[in-house]
Amino acid sequence: MIIIPKNIIQEIAKHAKEGSPLEACGYLAGKDGEVVEIFRMTNLDKSEEHFSFDPKEQFGVIKSARGKGQELIAVYHSHPASPARLSEEDVRLAHDPDTVYVIYSLLDNKLKAFKVVDKKIVEEEIG
Ligand SMILES: [Zn+2]
Repeated sequence: MIIIPKNIIQEIAKHAKEGSPLEACGYLAGKDGEVVEIFRMTNLDKSEEHFSFDPKEQFGVIKSARGKGQELIAVYHSHPASPARLSEEDVRLAHDPDTVYVIYSLLDNKLKAFKVVDKKIVEEEIG
């Protein structure tokens, strides 16, 4: 279970809309499974179907979150034209079983969260 406050969900939706038609991506940071902060990231791929983080920017966010005593709980990205489920590519690139992968779909404005353990998708409850 991951707790994502309404204002953070609104921020994800806003970022998704602003980034459209490209995928928008970023980190959700917090503590004990509760998100308190959102970090927008640049989609280096500039793609409508996938994303990748800028390693330098990534390093900065990790440092900034740690400095506030937060952990990076989740990676979020938008699906501008497909449903809120992980694509094959998303699963292939999901290497950390502890990270929650949050997807916001602009098709139906739905937000869903998943974990990927041994390449198997497990839906994560959002509270
Ligand atoms: Zn995706």
